[in-house]
Amino acid sequence: MVTPLPTLPPPTPTPWPTLPPPPLMTAAPRLNPGAAAEASLSIPSPPPTSPPTRSPTGSAFVVGRSGEGRDILAWRFGTGERVLLLVGGLHAGYEANTVTLVNELIAHFEAAPGDVLPGITLVLIPAANPDGLARGRQAAGRFNASGVDLNRNWSCGWSAEAYWRTERVDPGPRPLSEPETQALAALAQVLKPAAAVFYHSAARGVFAGDCGGADSAGLAAALGEAAGYPYGRPFTAYRVTGTAPNWFDGQGIPAVDVELTGTRDSEFVRNLRGVMAVQRWLVAR
Ligand SMILES: [Zn+2]
Repeated sequence: MVTPLPTLPPPTPTPWPTLPPPPLMTAAPRLNPGAAAEASLSIPSPPPTSPPTRSPTGSAFVVGRSGEGRDILAWRFGTGERVLLLVGGLHAGYEANTVTLVNELIAHFEAAPGDVLPGITLVLIPAANPDGLARGRQAAGRFNASGVDLNRNWSCGWSAEAYWRTERVDPGPRPLSEPETQALAALAQVLKPAAAVFYHSAARGVFAGDCGGADSAGLAAALGEAAGYPYGRPFTAYRVTGTAPNWFDGQGIPAVDVELTGTRDSEFVRNLRGVMAVQRWLVAR
């Protein structure tokens, strides 16, 4: 099977991709999702809203662009040689609390740079699926603008028949067919992260990638133990194929999906504990 790999920039002597500077941001709506609507209306679900989009600061760079041309932004902290990649919002929609979580982690490491341990670089992507995020808190926001489930679009164990619970979802016409997954895969091949964590909600648990290539189970244990989420068991609620952690594991990069407990709270404090534990785990390796 021919898998079209993303075009990579040429090797550089530094570990950082030479990426164009982030563009000037247009005024992003600083929404407080749903608060006003919920205060004034008694409807059960608020109108589609999204977590506030973070404006790029000095440590931000553009990873790639979505199908609708939105920037996929990353923030980096620290200068260590072991890169920990943290990704929110691969599914947006009802899982947009993971975008909030990664934005809160960015704010934390901006305010407390000493929490990036020596030897570590953090790269955080709050919104890996910005087109889905723009669709707000609804089921369609899970998918990208082409309707593809970006956590079924990776090449380890990809299947044309893909599921979300009992529903069939579109895994894309082939592995890594989507601009968002191509951007993440290209970034991974440039950065060569030491570990990758993808945040989802809300199945409560840490689920290790498994493609026979890395110690994802060890990563899941370190994170799950510190954050207080169950770990050590495969995801069995329904059949999942072509997930991001599986692809990363197959590339030799330990990777996990962290499923938050609910779809509203970002569960920041326990996840900060998890990120700190993963940093220690990486330093000790
Ligand atoms: Zn998800």
